[in-house]
Amino acid sequence: MLPAMIPATLPIPGAPVRIGDTLEEIETPALLVDLDHLETNIARMAKLFQGTRARLRPHAKAHKCPAIAHLQLARGAVGFCCQTVGEAEVLVVEGITDVLVTNQIVDPHKLDRLAALSRRAAVAVCVDHPEQVHQLEAACVRQDSRLGVLVEVDVGGGRCGVPPGSAAANLAERIAGSSRLHFAGLQAYNGKAQHLRGIEERRAAAVNAAEHASVAVAAVASRGLVCESVTGGGTGTFLFDLEAGLLTEIQAGSYALMDADYARNQSEPRTTFTQALQVLATVISRPAADRAVIDAGLKAIAFDSGPPEPLDLREARCQRPSDEHCELVLGGAAQSLSIGQKLRLAPGHCDPTINLHDWLVAVRGDRVEALWPIAARGYRWPGQSS
Ligand SMILES: *Cc1c(COP(=O)(O)O)cnc(C)c1O
Repeated sequence: MLPAMIPATLPIPGAPVRIGDTLEEIETPALLVDLDHLETNIARMAKLFQGTRARLRPHAKAHKCPAIAHLQLARGAVGFCCQTVGEAEVLVVEGITDVLVTNQIVDPHKLDRLAALSRRAAVAVCVDHPEQVHQLEAACVRQDSRLGVLVEVDVGGGRCGVPPGSAAANLAERIAGSSRLHFAGLQAYNGKAQHLRGIEERRAAAVNAAEHASVAVAAVASRGLVCESVTGGGTGTFLFDLEAGLLTEIQAGSYALMDADYARNQSEPRTTFTQALQVLATVISRPAADRAVIDAGLKAIAFDSGPPEPLDLREARCQRPSDEHCELVLGGAAQSLSIGQKLRLAPGHCDPTINLHDWLVAVRGDRVEALWPIAARGYRWPGQSS
């Protein structure tokens, strides 16, 4: 299925642009996706999976956007990862039939939503404690449904997850013993490894993760259970995870949109992705020859992984963001920047930046080609009071 394009009968209430507008006509701050870069990134990743045993299950937390999910699906993705129940619900409503929540869900309302969702799509979730298994089972009884459950193993990331030995096997046995749950395998993701800058450091972390995960696979096998899936990896380590050969699924997410932080990783050309996600901002003040102020601050761009990087201006550096402002320190030719000029910036971190916007303005060259709602952003369950 192709992404639902919004027809050119705009304006849509709340939409920042019209189809066919030029960059100059877009009100700022606006979140852009450069379609040429997005398509190249998705095609490049698909190609890297050809001839491997592993399947790509992209993480949708990076874009929260069903239109992008459908592009990934058309290029061979087997399903999607989500971090929240809301993301999973939005994807299923938009026609995605296979979702894995790579997280522990414990809130009883969310458990009910998850269990209900599994009547409409293949839904799986992660656990790292018997209490979560108990709660999932109870929710499936309440909703008369079944869920796939993966045991999350700590493979070096030090976030969630049980140690790879008997603790993992015990949990797998507990899941497999439930008539409401299906033991689907292991979640083996190391988030910390993704942003190690050097190629060799990331390769070593991926090898180490595969070693931990294979201990868990063996422990589970010793109880007579099979791991259908062993899933993990991200944009930073996927190539090395593929080389290590243990993971059956890779969960890379950021590769489609990219960000300035990932661009700081060393990588081989064939695994280098380009900056598809861009914030368009306008210069609103020029208080000094070497300073400009733009209209995109903390409410348009996430700064947790460093400042955004201006894409069209060499000698300009972002600093001191506030709610709706950010300062640019200018050198050389960048000092010709004038009030009203628009510029594009690569956000430091794609996932939290996406979450600040309602729309992705899809551009090709300098023309708006489509408008995509970031549908899973700020999503609230209809039954939840606001
Ligand atoms: C964020 C995340 C990913 C994707 O990581 P990227 O760095 O965006 O490729 C995969 N799996 C899990 C569990 C994650 O939290």
